[in-house]
Amino acid sequence: MVSETFARRNIMGYEGGVKILSESNIPFMHWGIINKYNFSEDKISFIPRKVFDKILYNSGSGHFSYISPVRGFRPKAYSLKGRVSKDVFKQIISGEDYAIFIAVDENIFNNVFSVKPMLLNIEDKKIATIINRFPSMVRVIDEDILDRVRHVKDIAWGVNLVSFPVKYFENLSEIDVDTLTYLIYSMNISIKRVLESASKRGFNNYIIYPFFNIGYLAGGSQPRIHSQVYVDLTGYGLGLRFRGLIEVFRNKCPLCNVDGREVVYEYDDWFVWVNSAPRRNYEIRIVYREHLDSFMKLKLNSIRSLSKILINISKILDRLGVYDNRNILFYTKPLIESIESFHIFIEILPFEVIGGVELLDSCRVIRVNPRILVEDIRNLFNSL
Ligand SMILES: [Zn+2]
Repeated sequence: MVSETFARRNIMGYEGGVKILSESNIPFMHWGIINKYNFSEDKISFIPRKVFDKILYNSGSGHFSYISPVRGFRPKAYSLKGRVSKDVFKQIISGEDYAIFIAVDENIFNNVFSVKPMLLNIEDKKIATIINRFPSMVRVIDEDILDRVRHVKDIAWGVNLVSFPVKYFENLSEIDVDTLTYLIYSMNISIKRVLESASKRGFNNYIIYPFFNIGYLAGGSQPRIHSQVYVDLTGYGLGLRFRGLIEVFRNKCPLCNVDGREVVYEYDDWFVWVNSAPRRNYEIRIVYREHLDSFMKLKLNSIRSLSKILINISKILDRLGVYDNRNILFYTKPLIESIESFHIFIEILPFEVIGGVELLDSCRVIRVNPRILVEDIRNLFNSL
């Protein structure tokens, strides 16, 4: 029996004093939710799918695309003409816009499959991880809708997370070590929560993609610094790059045998390495010293030393006059049964326009000689 107070709370959209967006007001695919209110047969072609290239595909891996029309509805704080002054995180922080919170500071807040966006003032907190409102994968499909879409074979199931600081920063040269440490920590505890909850729902293979897009040209649609994690729950299909890495780590680990002449800096559990065949000019890699396979296994101290290094590299790249639109990629082992060995590392890739030969193959024409870059970066680390 539903009590009168509970019924009233539901009508008002309040639970425990917090304003909740009712299910009937959630637009199709916002926060990765498909429910009986926002679904109709004509939306079937808008369900996110993970589709492989018919020629670039070989026994379960190859080039794939996440096809997710809802991504096109993201609020953009930039246009090609310049910045439009809308920081969507500001309204979320002040409790004026809805979000599904997964972690607030060190506390896990909601179920990762929650369908209850809420208004919550977090101005007195430091860090939050929320569900991406415009994801590339679907997170929840109502039971009765599931039967109607069962014929769609390649549904892209997944959880897309966004982590951000409550205090405003635009890049890693501005942020402080403490904030960045807890930002990465928040990503980590949220990923763990996704894995726990997803396994209870019957998912058992996970591909985890954590990254920062800093600046509009690096794919960051928001000026406030934020990181993202795509947890792909489809459980099949690695892309070409990860397939290559898995093969490499299966044998002798190259990251346990890096040429010392290419190492530019060592600090705590990490070393900084300039790859002699970079994907972008000024590419820098940060490698964990031990053969550790997962970012989720890092202790807070290691995350803190990593944060220090990331901030210093950002400052060094600024001093070298490197364009400030950058991607930071975290490589961690896909949790798929057949994959045994991996060695975590991070890549910092400044934005660059790429041309035909780089699209034709996995290659790059580089103008900054990595041997000279090694010297420059070594000197700059020493001068910090
Ligand atoms: Zn290794």
